Amino acid sequence: MTLSTDTRALSPAVATRLALPPHVFIDGQALPALSGQTLPVLDPADGHRIGTAACGDAADVDRAVRAARRAFDPASEWRTLTPIERGKVLHRIGDAILDHADEFAELEVLDAGKVRAAARGIDVDFAARSFHYFAGWPTKIVGSTVPTSHPGVHIATEKDPVGVVGAITAWNFPLLLCGWKLAPALAAGCTIVLKPSEETPHSALWLAELAVEAGLPAGVLNVVPGRGQEAGQALVDHPGVDKITFTGSTAVGKEIARRAADQVKRVTLELGGKSANIIFADADLDAAVAGSAGGLFWHSGQTCSAPSRLYVHRSVHDQVVERLHGIADGLRPGHGLDEGTELGPLVNASQKAKVGQHVSLAVEQGASVHVGPDVSADGFFHPATIISDARDDMACATEEIFGPVLTVLPFDDTDEVLRRADDSEYGLAAGIWTRDVSLAHRATRALRAGTVYVNGWGLTDPAAPFGGYRQSGYGRDLGPDSLEGYLETKSVWTFHG
Ligand code: NAD
Repeated sequence: MTLSTDTRALSPAVATRLALPPHVFIDGQALPALSGQTLPVLDPADGHRIGTAACGDAADVDRAVRAARRAFDPASEWRTLTPIERGKVLHRIGDAILDHADEFAELEVLDAGKVRAAARGIDVDFAARSFHYFAGWPTKIVGSTVPTSHPGVHIATEKDPVGVVGAITAWNFPLLLCGWKLAPALAAGCTIVLKPSEETPHSALWLAELAVEAGLPAGVLNVVPGRGQEAGQALVDHPGVDKITFTGSTAVGKEIARRAADQVKRVTLELGGKSANIIFADADLDAAVAGSAGGLFWHSGQTCSAPSRLYVHRSVHDQVVERLHGIADGLRPGHGLDEGTELGPLVNASQKAKVGQHVSLAVEQGASVHVGPDVSADGFFHPATIISDARDDMACATEEIFGPVLTVLPFDDTDEVLRRADDSEYGLAAGIWTRDVSLAHRATRALRAGTVYVNGWGLTDPAAPFGGYRQSGYGRDLGPDSLEGYLETKSVWTFHG
């Protein structure tokens, strides 16, 4: 099969976006990076260059932070907007995403190697819903009166926006993560400098332009694409940034937390995972196998909450493994813009090499590996892969692989499997499949993860907090909990004399 974006007709809006001169977006304007440096952006499905991004550095970050600080001035247009008006702006940003939903989906396919239906139905839709959900919040952020024992004193708490937020995001959900990070920050009244992943800068830059058209004052949302070590680090270190919200790998999250500590900067970290998923003997096996495989293989396993550690009761283990082989064999790899594609590529060559090394190591360590169909192309594909006959201490059962690779492990006893499932440095998500309500309650209480699924996997909702235990991070995206991460609490004392 030959894959090439050259042979595919792109929508005019996407072709226009990809042809724009490389730029950062600061104070409402698309500008070249001060250094003039650029980075190539490749289509992961065929390795072709689809565009060129500006490679912002510390000087661009400084410009962007200054713009965000001006926009955060107490007398600025943004700070003096009423909560109702702030909510309306967020709502219009959500509408603008939906107005361009098909084009955004196409852009995400090309930048991140997604499959079009998932990009449209999940990434774009969820980004819009995040803005629509948080549009309801500015009018509901309230303080309280404090029941003081001091006579002649009135004490009340107020909720203040934390200030200028530096948002740093991963490549696996470029637009969706804008919804997760920007919508609550804006609802709280913050201003933002966003550094999207260098692999996938296009959708964030377009969103920032649309946000200004939707009524967001210039300087409230600034976007500086660039490398993590340069633009990302500069954002973390900049004294004008009050809070960092980060989605990415655990290694980079630790580095960010260390550096931010120097300025006691607020930090929210959404990091990696090795999520455990347990199929009990009484489960509806059709649903359990389809849901477990679907949860792992969509976006080729490049999801932070991928259920990549599957524990199966020994009495049904062999038939589950056989069914999983069938699913892996049936998944059709291809370019995400092609009709019928079910498995897209990995994001880049190094990710492909890393996933391949993980599978080779599992074979060396004695595990059985079943591999689905591959694509002979220049793209960064890895076939759907099922690893069985593995042990809990093998790398394939402990490390985040971030590819379409599922490790299956048998278990005999409930206490044993709950203990093994929890024996991980991560704690992002966990899942169980059973018809027994008591067992479900017992397991959801025992599992230490930020999200626990029962008889399903993978849905997220703007109203449901999402985040990790342990080394999967701290703080929460989405839901009311996420707003707290963008607010300070101020006690106001008034003396009546
Ligand atoms: P990454 O950590 O390599 O990069 C993430 C972002 O950080 C990028 O924008 C990158 O440029 C920037 N960065 C890199 N080094 C930096 C530094 N020293 N200082 C500041 N910024 C820096 O992660 P990735 O490869 O883009 O994404 C994959 C990872 O993201 C996986 O581990 C995945 O589990 C995680 N992830 C987590 C969630 C979640 O909600 N928990 C969601 C999506 C992805």
